[in-house]
Parts: sequence; structure tokens; C-alpha cells
Amino acid sequence: MNVLVLNCGSSSVKFQLIATDLDQISHDSDARLAHGIIERIGGAAIITFTTEGSPPQRSAAPVRDTRAAVDIILRWIVSKESGIATVNSFADVHAVGHRVVHGGERFSKSVLITEDVLRGIEDGIELAPLHNPANIAGITAARASLGLGVPQVAVFDTAFHHTLPEYAYLYAVPYQFYRRHRIRRYGFHGTSHRYVAYRYRTLRGLAREATNVITLHLGNGCSIAAIREGNSIDTSMGLTPLEGLVMGTRSGDVDVSVVDFIGSKEGLSAAEVESLLNKQSGLLGVSGLTDDMRELLAEAHEHNDRRARLAIEIFCYRARKYIGAYLAAMNGADAIVFTGGIGENSPEIRAAICDGLSWLGVQVDAGRNAVHTSGREGQISAEGSRVSVYVIPTNEELLIARDTVRVVTGAPQRF
Ligand code: ADP
Repeated sequence: MNVLVLNCGSSSVKFQLIATDLDQISHDSDARLAHGIIERIGGAAIITFTTEGSPPQRSAAPVRDTRAAVDIILRWIVSKESGIATVNSFADVHAVGHRVVHGGERFSKSVLITEDVLRGIEDGIELAPLHNPANIAGITAARASLGLGVPQVAVFDTAFHHTLPEYAYLYAVPYQFYRRHRIRRYGFHGTSHRYVAYRYRTLRGLAREATNVITLHLGNGCSIAAIREGNSIDTSMGLTPLEGLVMGTRSGDVDVSVVDFIGSKEGLSAAEVESLLNKQSGLLGVSGLTDDMRELLAEAHEHNDRRARLAIEIFCYRARKYIGAYLAAMNGADAIVFTGGIGENSPEIRAAICDGLSWLGVQVDAGRNAVHTSGREGQISAEGSRVSVYVIPTNEELLIARDTVRVVTGAPQRF
């Protein structure tokens, strides 16, 4: 089955075309046929499409909206230009899998998109005003191009965290706000946490129920999850992705009194302060330089920039505190797994986070740590480390494609 995986954001659409079926899933032998991104939608867009084994094809064109972007992607996929041998017409695209950011309380697993499901995703707009509308636009665009005969599946960022117990997802605010407005922790990056936990247990030959890990997704957005017996039992992002770890431009945890305090001192509304905490804080806010960890590390090394070093220190300290908290929350873990752009590529950040965990029996092997970059998967802890440490590159698109096949064929969803 050829599955088109779509990740529609507010100004970009990313896609992958993945050939997979149940047999391939069980042998981990799925094949990515092509991938690409259209950026700066709404203006002069930049288009980068790549067929596996060929160089990227770059172009620029005005792209009006998500619908136009999805149309361009589909036309390219079936064109001679893409040269994908097994895909020559829309009939060769057998299903579409969508990354949907907020599934609210309703969606605990991936589902076939029906009118009723679409309404449910619309209900999530209140909770994810930037993301869910873009996801809906992607769904309607794919329907318009491919017709209703091609099944479409929604895979939710929040779904994996549905197993959080009540005491972990409720905030200690008056209970009626949960009852009236569903204010609670939802958690995000669920597809990534689920994928790396699955890869970890595959590498170790473990049953799902025997999987006890802490997964750290450190990219532009950052979150951590406590996974006990295969289920997410706590995670750092909350009602929105703002809570928890320090991120590229998000503050993560702050005392909420800060909102009113900054607002009154600087003459800003609550919404403006919230935007500041989302877009101008984190690594960027502390360093005053950049939200990009690679650039920050370069500044710290080449110019010994004090605030670059400080931003990195705060980032690592917060992550370490959360690992400690989750080890307590889950009564110990067998492994810590790093993923995301920073987690997959930076031995320095991994070492800095783990350095302070030696009391807990976490020992990183410097030699192993150094070689796990650029998508290389494996163990970086020393032999004898009480808690193992792994680097596992995430692959949300693959999981979305696999879930799509499972939903379409009615096979049970395993993680
Ligand atoms: P997103 O969350 O948007 O998917 P990524 O997972 O690609 O983003 O992560 C982007 C982050 O990863 C950036 O801060 C980038 O600097 C960082 N990163 C990528 N490569 C390296 C590296 N070699 N060393 C340190 N940080 C890196």
C-alpha cells in the first residue's frame, strides 16, 4: 500500500510517500519512495521534493494555501519528473495519513477520517488554534484532489498520552475548570515518543509490557515522557506545548504569576505575554542570539559567549530535573532514550544532561556517545550503567504510515 503522509502546518506542508503493508510492518521493511516540503505558503513558496536515491528538486512558486500545496505535491508524485516507478496516477496513492496535533479527550488512537471525526478535529481548534485548522485544511485538500474513495487516517500527537492517570493529567486548579472546559494536561509529540519506545523495545527484544523508559524528544519543541509497561504515564507538555522543558523559543515551566507581572510592567496583555513565552523565550530568550542549539553551541565554543553557555546550562538542567522526577514517578526506568534534532545529533548536550545523573547509576560512555550522530541509532551508556542510555532517531512519518495501514485494513494497533 502506498501511503501519503501529510504534516500540514500553518505555513508549510511536509510529506512522505511510504510503501508499506502489514507484512512489511512486521519485518520493518517499509520503503520511503519520496519526501518533500513546501515552505512559506501564502506567498512566494519554496518547494523541495526528493525521490529516494535522486538529488532534491528545488523550485519556487507562489502557493496560495494548503489546498494548493497538497495539489502540487500530488501532481508531482504522479508526474514523470518525480520518476517514482510504482506511482503513475492518483489511483496508485492508496491512503493518506495525516498528522493531527490535538485530539483532545476524544481520540485515544488513530482513526479513519469520517465527517464525525472531522467535526471532532474541529472541536480541537479551541485547544490548538494554530495547528488543527491547518490539519483540517490538509484533509479537505487531499479529499478534493483524490476523492472520497481514498481512505484518510488521522494520527494524533496527543493520542499516546491518553494513558496518563487522572492524578498526572489534572492540574490542581478548581475542578470545575476541568469539568467545564477540559483544562488538563494532554501532552504532545506522542507519535515520536511512541515510535522511539517501540524501536527501543525492538532493539532490546522486549515485550511492550516490559518497556520501562524515559524518552526525551529534543528538537525545536522539546518534551519528555515517562513510559511504564509500554504506556505513557506522564509527559512534560500540558494543555498546550508551552509547558515543561526549555525549548528553542518556548520557556517551558514558569511561575504563572510571571504573566501578570510582565504584563503590568511592560504594558502587555496576557495574550501578548503568552506569545512572548512561546516565541521569544527559551534558548532564544536567554541567549539573546538564536533558538538553534547548533549555533548556540558554536557561540559557546568559539566566543565563549556567557549567555549562550547559560542558555545551554538551563536547557540541560531542566531536562535533568525532569528525568529525576520521572524516575521517581515510574519507580525507576531501564533506559533513557534521546531523540529529535538535538537528542539525535549532539553528544555534548546528551553528556551534559546525563553527567548529573551518576548518583542514579547513569553512566554515558564517551566513545559511544561521540559516534551517535546523524541518524545513527544505538546504546551510548557504558557497560554496567544501571540505567541504559540510547539514541534513537525518531520517525513519526513511518509510524503514521503504519497506523494508516492498520486502520485501513482493520488490523490491531500495536506500538
Ligand atoms: P523540529 O522539532 O522542528 O522537528 P528538529 O528535531 O530538526 O526540529 O530539531 C532542531 C534542533 O536540532 C535545532 O535546535 C538544531 O540546532 C538542533 N540540531 C541539529 N543538529 C544538531 C547538532 N549537530 N548539534 C546540536 N544541535 C543540533
